[in-house]
Amino acid sequence: MAAEKVTYENFSGDPFSDWTPDDKNKGADTILQWAYDAYGSDLVYACSFGAEGIVLIDMIAKIKEDAHIVFLDTGVHFKETYELIEKVKKRYPSLKIEMKQPELTIAAQASQYGEELWKTDPNQCCYIRKILPLEEALTGVPAWISGLRREQSESRKNTNFVNKDERFHSVKVCPLIYWTWDDVWNYIQEHHLDYNELHDRGYPSIGCAPCTTAVETGDSRGGRWQGTMKTECGLHLPGSAKK
Ligand code: SF4
Repeated sequence: MAAEKVTYENFSGDPFSDWTPDDKNKGADTILQWAYDAYGSDLVYACSFGAEGIVLIDMIAKIKEDAHIVFLDTGVHFKETYELIEKVKKRYPSLKIEMKQPELTIAAQASQYGEELWKTDPNQCCYIRKILPLEEALTGVPAWISGLRREQSESRKNTNFVNKDERFHSVKVCPLIYWTWDDVWNYIQEHHLDYNELHDRGYPSIGCAPCTTAVETGDSRGGRWQGTMKTECGLHLPGSAKK
């Protein structure tokens, strides 16, 4: 299919909605190639450096070696996550990896909202430390890539390859929608990719340290915001929880 530039303004549905990929990577390479052909250097990948993240980085680096990657550096990530980022930078030196930080430092946030906002009001904390920085990073960006997979949760099961993103007034490209958790790990092993060491210590999904715990069993999103009703930071919801 021609690399038609789908925008937020002209969006009329996923151009791949009638396509069921039957290749080994379940359409991911095709979608990435289409997206980089359509958006070129304007395309941003917002990467959390989880298992899906390093798979996508490996695929992206083969298509666009100087792709723009944004990591939301909340300031409270695990040291293992920062170590992984350094390894990725060495393996793919041409990628432009941007460490996007929030306006408020942890100390400034504590003095304005109280200590450990992630405990008292995690939605506000995510808004300050993730949503606002991504909003800034995506300003003027026609499309961004996300590693969402349909099997991850109820709220993600209708995700398409190409989505109108109401939250960030952009187009969200999700190449891994048909991937299972096993697909992700098979790719990592087959390509000998570095991954976050915490995955081997019971953390399937790795976000900020204060909000991520190890789990004995569970799905690929297990261990995030345990003990609360919260399941999403808000990046993939149409409106953010706090303003
Ligand atoms: Fe704050 Fe936790 Fe959200 Fe990170 S995941 S921004 S620490 S509430």
